[in-house]
Amino acid sequence: MFRKILIANRGEIAVRVIRTARRMGVATVAIHSDADAAAMHVAMADEAVHVGGSKPSESYLRGDAVIAAAKATGAEAIHPGYGFLSENPDFVDAVEAAGLVFIGPSAKAIRAMGLKDAAKALMAEAGVPVVPGYHGDDQEPGRLEVEAAEVGYPVLIKAVAGGGGKGMRRVDAPADFVNALESARAEALGAFGNDDVLIEKYVEKPRHIEVQVFGDGTRAVHLFERDCSLQRRHQKVIEEAPAPGKTPEMREAMGAAAVRAAEAIGYSGAGTVEFIVDASDGLRPDRFWFMEMNTRLQVEHPVTEAITGVDLVEWQLRVAAGEPLPARQEDLSIGGHAFEARLYAEDVPKGFLPATGTLAHLRFPDGARADTGVRQGDRISPFYDPMIAKIIVHGPTRDIALGQLSQALEGTQVAGSVTNLAFLGALTRHAGFAAGDVDTGLIDRDLDTLAAEPAAGTATVALAALGVLGLEAGGPVQGFHLWSPLKRTARMTHRGEALEARVEVLGPGRYRVEAGGAVHEIERGAGWRIDGEAVAADVVSHAAGVSVFGRDTQHFEPVDALAVAAADAGGHGRIEAPMPGLVKSVFVKAGDAVKSGDRLAILEAMKMEHTLRAGRDGVVAEVLAEAGSQVEAGAALIALAEDE
Ligand code: ADP
Repeated sequence: MFRKILIANRGEIAVRVIRTARRMGVATVAIHSDADAAAMHVAMADEAVHVGGSKPSESYLRGDAVIAAAKATGAEAIHPGYGFLSENPDFVDAVEAAGLVFIGPSAKAIRAMGLKDAAKALMAEAGVPVVPGYHGDDQEPGRLEVEAAEVGYPVLIKAVAGGGGKGMRRVDAPADFVNALESARAEALGAFGNDDVLIEKYVEKPRHIEVQVFGDGTRAVHLFERDCSLQRRHQKVIEEAPAPGKTPEMREAMGAAAVRAAEAIGYSGAGTVEFIVDASDGLRPDRFWFMEMNTRLQVEHPVTEAITGVDLVEWQLRVAAGEPLPARQEDLSIGGHAFEARLYAEDVPKGFLPATGTLAHLRFPDGARADTGVRQGDRISPFYDPMIAKIIVHGPTRDIALGQLSQALEGTQVAGSVTNLAFLGALTRHAGFAAGDVDTGLIDRDLDTLAAEPAAGTATVALAALGVLGLEAGGPVQGFHLWSPLKRTARMTHRGEALEARVEVLGPGRYRVEAGGAVHEIERGAGWRIDGEAVAADVVSHAAGVSVFGRDTQHFEPVDALAVAAADAGGHGRIEAPMPGLVKSVFVKAGDAVKSGDRLAILEAMKMEHTLRAGRDGVVAEVLAEAGSQVEAGAALIALAEDE
């Protein structure tokens, strides 16, 4: 086994590889960009090397700098993770030329699968079923149009160098072909610097089922399938293993085809053979076709680990270090059912726009595996994929595992950035998904319902109000004493809209809250009770505001109490202490004329001095507190005379 390896990646996959390496007694070297200097993978590794600027092209994609870092630290092998340099055969050649081991397949195997057209030709030769279509060299638009008609509409135009759904267009009728071809080509040229395309029959009711394979360079085994049909714009959202509704007969046929594919190219290490399946008439062994092979560890590998009990990274390290395949096909079996949901910092209502932000609060649920590369306080930067974590559950049956996923997502708490959590939660409650009736069009068909933002109910606003006033822990009631006002107003904003709630303290941990026209009696014991009913909600104050976590998580921003104090003066002519504190100075006396913005008093609270100013022009009617006195929140300090 290696003594030390370098991980040429970042985020959750770097962290995940480090964990297994550590368990196996292998020392780890992280690499990082400027933006990632204090990232979780850097903190976890035994050593870390700075390789360049924040843009991937200046750091994680710089093969020369990565190899130099490995040499300088004495690492014997390089684990590429996924993305970045993981499927770059020139990098593999350079790693080997430097006398290091690449933890993955040979450059030759990667090249064989690098372009979709050549890969399809190779697979057809090896007896693996491929999607009917045209994958020839002649790229003349007229020729492609003729081929598309031959294949029969609808067809799919795919960039041969494609990945991540880029350069792909579905065409339903011949009249649309030329335009679709042009836009697919332009996108492919921009993304891959190669605008060659192939034409495929568009499979109806398509399901994406992929087989995990593992090779030693000669022989290969498969570790069953993953169903990745829940997709948005050809990007996976929730994956599962095994595939619902799959018969042993079809599993056998697909597994054998995937092993043939891997052995045909002398595959070594972890790889995935992706198939498209026509599910219009159930799953049938003669209705699956090879799409492409991913010559690396996949994002969704944990569902396979869950059902097989295999640590795929351990297998990668062992085989790369020269050990034989750790298991024979007959040693492998499926236990239970697993799901993985991809938690992203993205704005779902704004069309799933990638988001950034500092994670003011971050908590993962018990009873689920959370693969993450960030901690509370970390920043989701604009430079990289905005994934926050992968939430993985494993249960004895699909039904139970889906329930676990739903609960795990409800128990996942993120504040400081918008996320797709509500969308993922809605998917777990989708009737078709629950029935296992999945295909790649499911999300798009029901997008409006799935992506709808849950509204904040009055009970949720009431809980948020307690958080805004610092009462979320129940306990002793600060700022509420017999001789100070027992009613206080919590002011906050929710998605930019101003909200107010009146909170009345009834006793320790007991409140009556008026919000949005409703009145709720709330009790804080071991958990929350609202109007006599136990409610599974968690109210948390953090640097970005107050969150009420639960099934319909909502975030609120308290409105600055001091700004309100000044504004109140404008409205009511009363200057109140916005928080408990010491009156340091009072600058006015009864009868003084003041102008809006004039300093009236200084309150020392929370170790800081706050200047209280007049909110409007007027005459001081009364000074109710003198310098040196301790006041409670809400106490009136100065009153202005009513306007005539
Ligand atoms: P990429 O490499 O860009 O991810 P793939 O070839 O893996 O592209 O295809 C991505 C997704 O597009 C598949 O998971 C599937 O949902 C859809 N797809 C691909 N080929 C077809 C096809 N022939 N018919 C219908 N859908 C397809």
